Amino acid sequence: MIGAVDIGGTKIAAGVVDENGRVLSKAECPTDVPRGFAHAMRRTIEMLAQCADRSRVSLHGIGIGCTGPVDPIVGSLGNVNLLQGWEGGNPVDKLSAEFGVPAAMENDADAAGLAEAVWGAGKGKARLVYVTISTGIGASVILEGKVYRGAGGCHPEVGHHVIEPSGPLCSCGARGCWESLASGPSMVEWIQTNAPASCWSPDLSAKVICAQAQEGEEWARRAVEREAYYLGVGLANVVSLFTPDAIVLGGGIMKSASLFLDRIHEVIRQNCRLVPFERVEISLASLGPDVGLIGAAQVWRHHFAA
Ligand SMILES: [Zn+2]
Repeated sequence: MIGAVDIGGTKIAAGVVDENGRVLSKAECPTDVPRGFAHAMRRTIEMLAQCADRSRVSLHGIGIGCTGPVDPIVGSLGNVNLLQGWEGGNPVDKLSAEFGVPAAMENDADAAGLAEAVWGAGKGKARLVYVTISTGIGASVILEGKVYRGAGGCHPEVGHHVIEPSGPLCSCGARGCWESLASGPSMVEWIQTNAPASCWSPDLSAKVICAQAQEGEEWARRAVEREAYYLGVGLANVVSLFTPDAIVLGGGIMKSASLFLDRIHEVIRQNCRLVPFERVEISLASLGPDVGLIGAAQVWRHHFAA
């Protein structure tokens, strides 16, 4: 039984996951970034202990997925945009010492990618790229079941590769990176900048735009067309660079995948003639909202049991 922790900018989830990737119990709390890292760790320890009690198990290890950049070797947090002031905090040391078991951490996209590779839509694929599209774009490259790491063990930022150098400025410092053009918030920004004022409201979201597009609303339809195009360009680049056996697509935007997939395939066909793009299976993530916890547990197995 593995204790699983998923640290995001909005909430922290904790739970117990069994050896078949099933979530036996779970709890969550707001991340509450301003109260600091130590406070968040106290809450996480409480939640993990409660979950273990509720499932009547003792934990063999603890796996952590955390919004990046994180150091998967040392277990410490980098300068994470969404976790201001937490840099240098080490959830691996903290949780390992508290529970007396080994712990390991990866970037949350790598954690989710590992979960889909072992239990989900990427099962059996030797070369897999997992992409999650929601408030940001995260990606994980998994080769023969192992997370691909860059220099010094870093997590390459596929979601921030530049697509249009004259595009919008991203918090990563680049203009026109994939996330700045094709994340959920970029759909809202595009409507806000281009559509008549009557199309915009403070509660507009990518989800609302997708629903409006399905009803045939003209500007929402255009926003979806633009989104599909930029998703397609980024994925075509992934196909050209890696030509993996499969690309698994997850994240909130993909709940409306039917609006995007035809155009994505069309852009890949246009852009990837030099590689056997037809051999790259594009499928949807299959593990649902628990993918973060299942992935965190898989992080532990990736470090200690594989
Ligand atoms: Zn960026």
